[in-house]
Amino acid sequence: MKAWFGAALLALSATASVSQPAARAPALELWRLDCGDFDMKRFGAWFSDTFQYPPGPRPLVGSCYLIRHGDRYLLWDTGMSDALIGKPFDNEQQTQSLKRSILDQLKQINVAPEQIGFVGISHFHGDHTGQAKHFPNATLAIGQGDWDLLKGSDERLKDVRANLAHWLSGTGKAAPFARDVDVFNDGSVIMLALPGHTPGHSGLLVRLASGPVLLSGDQYHFTEAVKNRGVPSFNMNRADTLASHDRFDRIAANLGAKVIIQHEPRDVAKLPAFPASAR
Ligand SMILES: [Zn+2]
Repeated sequence: MKAWFGAALLALSATASVSQPAARAPALELWRLDCGDFDMKRFGAWFSDTFQYPPGPRPLVGSCYLIRHGDRYLLWDTGMSDALIGKPFDNEQQTQSLKRSILDQLKQINVAPEQIGFVGISHFHGDHTGQAKHFPNATLAIGQGDWDLLKGSDERLKDVRANLAHWLSGTGKAAPFARDVDVFNDGSVIMLALPGHTPGHSGLLVRLASGPVLLSGDQYHFTEAVKNRGVPSFNMNRADTLASHDRFDRIAANLGAKVIIQHEPRDVAKLPAFPASAR
């Protein structure tokens, strides 16, 4: 067992982490933050390695989430870079645009960036790491496989490395994890190791008083991918992704969890509209 953040964060075995209900947990609260919009121009080619979907455009969203546990905060994913506000990115594959920064949204609910103790990253892709740099005091929780890739020399990861430079350089406190992580050490919020999309990809289980919520990371990108066992063409390990699909679905079924696919526009309404929160 690996301890993080003093005694606060413990890595658990998979079985222990998902079978134990939260015990005496402080109040939990969950907000969905707007972390961008995508207009995918070649949706079919991008999102299926089995030619499942017709070519043509389709919109997706970017989502980040703030979790309050008593007076402690976890930011789950950090969206596109806020340099995109008013200046959308556009190429032949997609347009990415961002209306509001995370900092601006946090300000609206009176949360200062210094209050964010943990930033959890589902995976290293740029649309999930773009605003991490605004939370330098936070401990960065990231899958070991992704961390190892970023620590390597692959030139294609240059931009992503820049997003997380504060932690990669050793200045910020990083906590790479290879197994599930019980963030607040009471079973209430668990990062789930779901490798495949990237080597260190993960999802997040949040056991609210109103019922468990399962945040997908990029395990799935849209609703039909669940039924279709979809694997995108830009996926890193197909076999691992299919195994993680199976684990994700079984956790959702066993806990009766509300599944939220972070990039699916239809899933935005599964949580209260910001600045309202779920409890
Ligand atoms: Zn993504």
